[in-house]
Amino acid sequence: MRLGDLWVNLVQTLLRVFPFPCETGLVKIGNPGRSSPVLLTCNFRLTVERVKRALEGIDAYLLVANSRGVNVWCAATGGLLSNHDLVSVLKTSGIQDLVDHRKVILPQLAATGIEGRNIRERTGWRIVWGPAHFSALRAFLSGGQVATPEMRRVSFEWPQRLEMAAAWAFPISLAALFVLPWWPSGVLPLMGLVWGLSSLIFLGFPLYEGWIRTTGKNVGFVFFDFGQYGIPLLLWVVFVLGLMAYALLGGGISWGFVLRWGLSSFVALLILGVDLMGSTPVYKSGLHEERLLRIALDAGLCKGAGFCEQVCPVDVFQVDDERRVATLPGAERCVQCGACIVQCPFDALQFENPTGDVVTPETVRRFKLNLLGKRIASPGKSEQGQKSAGP
Ligand code: SF4
Repeated sequence: MRLGDLWVNLVQTLLRVFPFPCETGLVKIGNPGRSSPVLLTCNFRLTVERVKRALEGIDAYLLVANSRGVNVWCAATGGLLSNHDLVSVLKTSGIQDLVDHRKVILPQLAATGIEGRNIRERTGWRIVWGPAHFSALRAFLSGGQVATPEMRRVSFEWPQRLEMAAAWAFPISLAALFVLPWWPSGVLPLMGLVWGLSSLIFLGFPLYEGWIRTTGKNVGFVFFDFGQYGIPLLLWVVFVLGLMAYALLGGGISWGFVLRWGLSSFVALLILGVDLMGSTPVYKSGLHEERLLRIALDAGLCKGAGFCEQVCPVDVFQVDDERRVATLPGAERCVQCGACIVQCPFDALQFENPTGDVVTPETVRRFKLNLLGKRIASPGKSEQGQKSAGP
């Protein structure tokens, strides 16, 4: 990698929580021919660069779809990478004239937003679900374009955690510069606090991963959420009010002291409030907590097509090829991404809650069940109480 590219990559990694769009369209990798594989990714610049590097030495076409500069997982689950975006790049990039086949390989994590059946009906192109992580692309292509269970399973390894720690800490620590005019000696300690806490949260993930798993709750820790009643936020308000009262009652502390401690503790609170489960598909977002949904299969409708198995990031399904039916041996691992529901051609899957309310496939396809989708779908929340209702 050239020094200039290295620098751009570093900046984009540090700012990866923000959209970073690049040009959409067709990219030739090597010297592709009429039977070369066609792959697709989003137009988050960092992802495009990484996919291109992962494909070095392979002859292929890479389609870059418009995801508004957002990464595949967030864009697809947030409705920013949709059927329309894939259809658009397939029809306008010229790829149809360059290859004899009609098969496009998509990143597995796009399955929450792009529906295979819809694409086939509208364009004639068939989607093949690739691995969850671009680093497995080479093995996927050389292995007959079959994603093994290991390639499909999403993990949160230390390089990704390190990257997330830096991406989380960097913009927040830049904000610490605002205190420079009135608290110059506080800048470095504040930055240290931000980097220290972010590193602790993300790099220390394996230490409390089991705890999160065994509690059976999405959240439950003061970290990663402000909770249903915003208790950490209330405690912070009490803390600052206490400091103010102490200053007013002549306790010997200055208003500058109150401001500095109020600010420092608020910064710590913001970092501890990161919804880690929303930043990785390993766990469901804390925003799903109140829904109490579970994935449910209607075995009478299932014909064992297996798309659910191909797109699930946490290995929930096993397809019984003899009986032509899917089973859900890992149902407790479900992170409610909705990918299996979106892809099932027979509408055999849906979400249910303990009271018997269901979220239909149509609703999941339309609104998604995710961070952004929840906000988009919020007007439909009133439907929750109805049978066959929305999220
Ligand atoms: S079973 Fe759960 S985690 Fe797996 S694809 Fe379906 S909704 Fe997503």
